[in-house]
Amino acid sequence: MRFKATSCPKETKPIESRVDSDAHANGWSARNQQFLSYFLSRYGQRRTIPLSSLCIAVVAGVGIGALVHQAAGEAAITLRVALSMVSGVAGLAIVRRKLGLDYARQSAATALASGLLHANRDCLKVLATDGKMLRVSEHGAMLMEAESPEQLSGSDWLAFWTGEDRTAAEKALAGAVSGKSTSFTGSCATTRGRTRWWNSTLTPVTGDDGAVSALLCASEDVTQQSELLKTLRERDELMHEMELHVRLVFYSYSSHFEHCHHVSAGVESVFGITPQELGNRPSAWLDLVVPEDLEPLLAEMNRVASEVAEGRVEYRIRRPDGCLRWIRSTAYPVCDGSANVVRIVGVSEDITLEQERLAALDRLAYTDGLTGLANRGALIRQMKTLCRQNVAFSLMFVDLDRFKVLNDTLGHTAADRLLQDIAKVIQGALAPDACVARLGGDEFAVIVRGESDKATLASLAQSLLNLFSSDVRKDHAAPFVTASIGISIFPEHGRDHEALLTSADIAMYAAKKGGRNGFRFADEASSDVLGDFELECNLPTALASNQFVLHFQGIHEPASLAVKGVEALVRWNHPARGLVGPGSFIPILEESGFIVEVGAWVVDAALAQLAVWQAAGRKELSMSVNVSARQLRDDSLVAIVDQALRKHRVPPRCLQIELTESALMENPSLAQATLMALKRLGVRIAIDDFGTGYSSLRYLADFSPDIVKIDRSFTATLGRDAAAASIVRGIIQMSHELGIKVTAEGVETNQQLHALRDAGCDYVQGFFLTKPMNAENLVQCESFVPLSAAGATSDCSH
Ligand code: C2E
Ligand code: CA
Ligand code: CA
Repeated sequence: MRFKATSCPKETKPIESRVDSDAHANGWSARNQQFLSYFLSRYGQRRTIPLSSLCIAVVAGVGIGALVHQAAGEAAITLRVALSMVSGVAGLAIVRRKLGLDYARQSAATALASGLLHANRDCLKVLATDGKMLRVSEHGAMLMEAESPEQLSGSDWLAFWTGEDRTAAEKALAGAVSGKSTSFTGSCATTRGRTRWWNSTLTPVTGDDGAVSALLCASEDVTQQSELLKTLRERDELMHEMELHVRLVFYSYSSHFEHCHHVSAGVESVFGITPQELGNRPSAWLDLVVPEDLEPLLAEMNRVASEVAEGRVEYRIRRPDGCLRWIRSTAYPVCDGSANVVRIVGVSEDITLEQERLAALDRLAYTDGLTGLANRGALIRQMKTLCRQNVAFSLMFVDLDRFKVLNDTLGHTAADRLLQDIAKVIQGALAPDACVARLGGDEFAVIVRGESDKATLASLAQSLLNLFSSDVRKDHAAPFVTASIGISIFPEHGRDHEALLTSADIAMYAAKKGGRNGFRFADEASSDVLGDFELECNLPTALASNQFVLHFQGIHEPASLAVKGVEALVRWNHPARGLVGPGSFIPILEESGFIVEVGAWVVDAALAQLAVWQAAGRKELSMSVNVSARQLRDDSLVAIVDQALRKHRVPPRCLQIELTESALMENPSLAQATLMALKRLGVRIAIDDFGTGYSSLRYLADFSPDIVKIDRSFTATLGRDAAAASIVRGIIQMSHELGIKVTAEGVETNQQLHALRDAGCDYVQGFFLTKPMNAENLVQCESFVPLSAAGATSDCSH
């Protein structure tokens, strides 16, 4: 029979408190009494057996009387009777006394048992040998959540158990029935269906005949302990599972890591050693640590113990299988009441993946995408480290010469390839661990580690330069690749990365100024170069701040010396340095490409001035404007010129564009196309600095220029060198044959002027005639008279 499970009403007090409070209820002791009296009446009395005692006592009394009778022989009957009576009465008195004593003992026992029962917190039951519950203690009924002990009386004790517990209960019952005291632990539901855990002991109760007539079953409620145990076991299992599957190592070591109290199973997958190995030799894991990382690791371990502080350290291990892994260990000191470290607990984890990802990110952040070299950030980082550690090193700043030109002529793809090749060349020439970086564009930098004397560095720089002009050239159509190198040495030329970079940059600049394809040490850069370098830094804002101005130099007719045209020459009105000549900044503008914007301004400003002069009556005056190679390559040149002509309403034939031979030769086909477009606008073309470059007039004729300008270096030879003078005459003659007019530049003497006039030179220009000056000053010049007065033609060709 099973009790129906009924849910516990909400207002019902928890069973624990119910038991305690109800324990004082009136019915409680009465019911216990009932249980006890049943128990004692059924078993206790039998065990004390007053009836048999009585019989024995009576028989004993009578026996004693008979013995006395026999001993007295044949005495008087009265005496015999009296004796018999006395002995009988004596026997009775003994028995009565005995009975009185038994009763007193029984009462005491009952009281004791009642007290014990009252104090007993178990569920006490008397079971029949078939498992029927004959009686249940009051407290037991409460533990079983029954209304009263009677509710449980008569029900089958075995029916409460199920599954394995049922088997255990059956076995315990059978054992007890066979006369043994048995016990088992199992769970069964209370009358309200709540599961409780019991530790049950079954004690057989035997009758006079020695046969087991009933069983005393005491069940201790061990639900709390069981649940606690269960929770602990579950937690333990969870921990074990976690330790087994999570790639973390949990450990507990003694305060100085001499003993290993616990290390989780994960140590096998992370460190490649077993917990047992660590148990035997707690320091076994330290053998795996990469030697360089051992010292900081041990220092951190000591710190945790000595400073009683949390510790964290990352280090590398070489696992027994040869694998190199990154480990992060965290350690927490555990203290006793007196703040002494009793153990160190912590976690170690494999962070190799994290480190690899970080390294990949680091590579990405510190790598130049095009060449795969370190980038500026990486270079600065390394320089900072070396400076901080006070390690000797030198910095080489490598800048390709005229790379902008190469970039535009080769096209971007080929130029990128060229940069990649350069990167390889630099890397190949240096030690594998050298830091080679691309700082951007065509700028590279090299950190040469260690103490190096200037001679060693010089030969390294020279070998790099040699490699550039040989190796790189092989694979590409580029005419020539050269570079300029600036070298700064730590700490001689700077104690921090900024100072070293700047001084190497200035040195590189000096190398460029010194004719390119060379190198300079930082201390070899003159103050002149330093000034130029400063200019370079100020250049980007110069145009916006209207710091550029135009000066004009007259182009004269040799006979009358009248100004037939002017050449616009740009100057930079530097706020601190005053007027700066174009030689100091035009190359910088060209390298940066900024010349395009400045050049557009020059065209506009020159035509604006020409328009003013033409409006003032010098209608036939022409304006010469210099255009550099970089401008010639720019798509916008033709549009810029066209726009300026329209804007200032200047006849195109009054504008001359001066281009140097080298600018034309850089990319002849491109130059040809631009020249044709300019010519279509009606603009005239002059070949500037003629004689300094290719000097092939026949070749230059393909560009069909209107004018050639003989370079002042030739003019300078006139009157001194007969051979040079004949070359000048030859150029003039040949040009005329081709229908090209000739201007001689740099006329500084009267002799030169006469020689040119004799040679039939069309125009002359030079300090002897007019120096470049601003517009206001130029109009004051005697030669700057209205052309009509000087009898000039009005074709604008000077
Ligand atoms: P360039 O086109 O050959 O200009 C003539 C240069 O010779 C000018 O130098 C002028 O001052 C100088 N010069 C003139 N007559 C004499 C003389 O008798 N003796 C000597 N020794 N020199 C004389 P500057 O003004 O310094 O210009 C230098 C160069 O800068 C120019 O050479 C030209 O290539 C370039 N340049 C000037 N202005 C511009 C410009 O607006 N755009 C571009 N792209 N280049 C310019
Ligand atoms: Ca010129
Ligand atoms: Ca010139």
